[in-house]
Formats: sequence, C-alpha cells, structure tokens
Amino acid sequence: MELSGRIHSDPDAIKAASTDYGHIISVNPAVVLSPSSVDDIKTLISFSFKSNSTPYTVAAKGNAHSTWGQAMAASGVVVDMLSLKKNGNGSRIIVSGNKGSGFYADVGGEQLWIDVLNETLKQGLSPVSWTDYLYLTVGGTLSNAGISGQTHRRGPQIANVKELDVVTGKGDLVTCSPRQNSELFFAVLGGLGQFGIITRARIVLEPTKKRVWWLRILYNDFAAFSKDQESLIAMTGASCQNVPDYVEGQLLMDPNTNLDFFPPSDRPKIISLIKQYGIIYFIEVAKYYDDSSTVDKELKCLFKNLNGFIPGFMYEADVTYLDFLNRVHRDELVLREKGLWEIPHPWLNLFVPKSGIFEFNNGVFKDILLKNNFTSSLVLFYPMFRNKWDDRMSAVIPDEDVFYPAGFLDSSGFDNWQVFDNKNKEILQFCARTGIKIKQYLGHYGSKEEWIDHFGSKWNTFKQRKAQFDPKMLLSPGQKIFN
Ligand code: FAD
Repeated sequence: MELSGRIHSDPDAIKAASTDYGHIISVNPAVVLSPSSVDDIKTLISFSFKSNSTPYTVAAKGNAHSTWGQAMAASGVVVDMLSLKKNGNGSRIIVSGNKGSGFYADVGGEQLWIDVLNETLKQGLSPVSWTDYLYLTVGGTLSNAGISGQTHRRGPQIANVKELDVVTGKGDLVTCSPRQNSELFFAVLGGLGQFGIITRARIVLEPTKKRVWWLRILYNDFAAFSKDQESLIAMTGASCQNVPDYVEGQLLMDPNTNLDFFPPSDRPKIISLIKQYGIIYFIEVAKYYDDSSTVDKELKCLFKNLNGFIPGFMYEADVTYLDFLNRVHRDELVLREKGLWEIPHPWLNLFVPKSGIFEFNNGVFKDILLKNNFTSSLVLFYPMFRNKWDDRMSAVIPDEDVFYPAGFLDSSGFDNWQVFDNKNKEILQFCARTGIKIKQYLGHYGSKEEWIDHFGSKWNTFKQRKAQFDPKMLLSPGQKIFN
C-alpha cells in the first residue's frame, strides 16, 4: 500500500486513537492513518475492500468528542481526520456564492466548526445552524445531526448541507447532493459514519449580524416554562419581525452549579429559589442584531407572548456574535485549568416527544434526578420542530411535530461513572415503562436488536444502504450497529 510514513503504530498514536471525550471506553486499533490527502483515505479503504483474506475495519476519528467509543476501531484502522488539516495542501475552507443565489462554504470533513466560523466571518458570512460547542469536526457532527438553539428555526446542521464528497466503504470517492447520488447523500447525513467518510461538505452560509442580545429568564413552574419555550419557537416573521435566533433551556437544581451567567449580587436570591422549589427552569433566548437603536423596540414583540416567568428574574448580556457562538469554549478553558475536562462523561441525550414532557418532568427531573440527588448535572431541555428535519436522512427523531432534546451532561470521577450510567439506565427504563417514545441522540446500544428498535421504520432503508455503500461492513465499527 502507498501509505508508508502515514501509518503509525507507536504507543502514543495508538493511545490517542483509543480514547475519547467520554473516557469510559478504551479500545486499541491495530494502526492509525494520518492522511495528508483524500487519496490516502481512498487507498486505505480500497485496499481493505479488495482484500479477500484480511479486510480491516476503518473508523474516521474527527475530534473524538464522542462519549461511547463511536470513533474507535478495535484492531482496525483509525483515520485521524485532523491530520488532513495539519498536513493537507492549501485551504480546505473555501467560501463562494453571491447574494442572488446564496453563499456557501466548501469545507473539509476534518475541519472544526470554530475554524469554519472564523474563516467565514472574514467575509461577513456564517453558517446558520450550530452545535453549542464548536471544537467538533464537520464530519463528526454531520454524522449525527448537529443541534442547538438555532435548530427550531434553521433545522439541524444536516439540513443545511448542499453537497458532499464521500469515500464509501468500497473506496470510491463520490460527490452527492439531493439531486446527484441522492441515496448516498441522505444516507450519510445522520448516518453515524456507516456509509462513507465525509471529505468535503458544502455548508449553507448567510450574511451575519455583529452582535447578540442574550437573555435568561427563570421559571418555577414546568408548564409555564415549556409553554413559553413553545411560544418562542412558534414565532414567525409574519406575526413578529423579531423571531428569536436561538432558544434553549436548562434546569437549575444545585445551589453551587451553573450560576456563572447570573450577576453575583443576585445569586443568593436564585439559590433561595432553588431551595424553595427544588428545580428552577430557565429559558435562554438570543437575538442577533446590528443596530442597537432598533433592537430594544423589536424585543418587546418577542416578550408579548411570554407570561409565566418569575418577575424580577430576567438576565441580559450583550456580546459579539463570535463570543456568543463560542460560549462553551470559555467553560472548557476553566474546566481544563481545574483538571475537570479530560474526565469521564457518562452522557445521555434523548429526544422526548411533546406528548410525554409532563410525565418526563415528573418521573425524570423530579423523581430520578432531584430525589436521588443528581442535582449537579448539567441538564438541557428545549423544543424543536420535526418539519425542520428531512426524513430521507438517516437521523432518527420522534414521530411528533414538536420534540425536546433532553441532555444529561454529567461529569464524574474515573471510579464512579457507573453511578451516573445507572441513573441514565433508570431514565431509559422509566421511558420504556411509561411508553414515552423517546429516541436516543448520540446513543449507544448493547445489541443489534436495540439498534433495530432505535431506527424503527428506517431500519430496512438503513440496512439496504449499508449493503449498497459499505457491503463489507468496514466503516465506523465503534457504533456497534453491524460489527
Ligand atoms: P468523533 O467523535 O470523532 O466521531 C463521531 C462519529 O462520526 C464516529 O462514528 C466517527 O467514525 C464518525 N466520523 C467522524 N468524522 C467523520 C467523517 N468525516 N465522515 C464520516 N464519519 C465521521 N452535538 C450536538 O449536536 N449539539 C451540541 O450542542 C453538542 N455539544 C457538544 C459539546 C461537547 C463538549 C461535546 C463533547 C460534544 C457535543 N456534541 C454536540 C456531540 C458531538 O456533536 C458529537 O459527539 C460529534 O460526533 C463530535 O464530533 P467529532 O468531530 O469529535 O466526532
């Protein structure tokens, strides 16, 4: 094979490829490929595909921010995508288009979203759909969905892609879009790395605003919280010029956690609310703007339909667009400094259908979390619309018009992550028992049957696409769907 010099099997390379942000699973590959071109990836996969005796599995590793070993390959080859960034020739973020037909960026699958943002901002442009954290690769998030507070309005990141280059499980480099090789295009988006390695994505851009008005409002009542969240995402340009660009929500359950956004002078008041009610919910809303003289007036419209929040508990910030989108990186730096970043993350992410949210609040937030003292978890909860997703893609969501991502983003010690994992299992069991038809996001399962259940009516298509694009089942073995 023409890859000598780019194949590594030294202990450092193997160690780096056998760990991820979860710090729970550790699996050694046989070797690591550090590609310097897309051709290297083609060569690697073709060789395995054509080999009669010794095909090996191949996992693209983006920034390894999976939490359950999804980018690992036991005894196979891990492709360190970031090395395309370091060793590739020329820029792999190219901005094109115009006002009339729209702007877009052609970006390498290995690029981090923060780099895409910095590059596009130079031209006053920006992608429209985001994740909360930007040090993730384009290929990594497009293999899942890529969601955040913009999704209710713009759809997930996978719905904002025009075209892809993909190296399939046969080693073919294929350009695909909704019109060209569409089966591969829809398979790969949300496809958990099963059908090919994304080497280029054409991402929708639009002119950006300079600043972001960012607000948090507090609730002691779940019904009022979710009603106001749904009012916010339902605002449309016709009834209100000033539709929010971003809507999320979180829970506050611990007097010592997650209060940084709030002014120190108000924290004692918020802590007494938490002590009084057990759970305080907050909505986080953001509006992008250029002209500060009009934004105040426009925001009044946004508030017309909100009525359930606790009077006096409204907190604003005014930041640059970049600072807003890159907000989680600030937390990362603080946690890294304290040695609290590279630790186990027994995460659970669910999509909860709207019909089940009250039962979910009572059974999960109040009973499983609060009563059992899982109060320091970072818990996200906010609504989005099914019709912003494209059902032809592989991503799986609940079968209701509105559903809520629920993120249980725990950190733990190396010796007690199981306590949090058991809590997560209890949440899943609660949903199964009560018939809340949740779907896992970024999920991991112990058996093929569970994956079949996860994909539901999409399973047959998923399986057929696998047979078509990766018939030897070489790709992304760490997802444990076919391997
Ligand atoms: P990896 O973990 O390296 O890979 C993930 C999967 O994709 C693997 O199966 C891998 O084989 C495959 N893959 C990687 N690159 C490619 C490629 N080029 N082509 C095909 N397959 C590929 N997700 C959200 O949606 N919204 C959020 O707000 C969000 N916030 C996060 C915050 C933090 C701090 C962390 C750690 C994760 C967050 N995530 C979020 C989850 C994140 O989107 C996924 O874990 C994503 O997979 C991470 O990207 P990565 O580049 O690290 O991928």
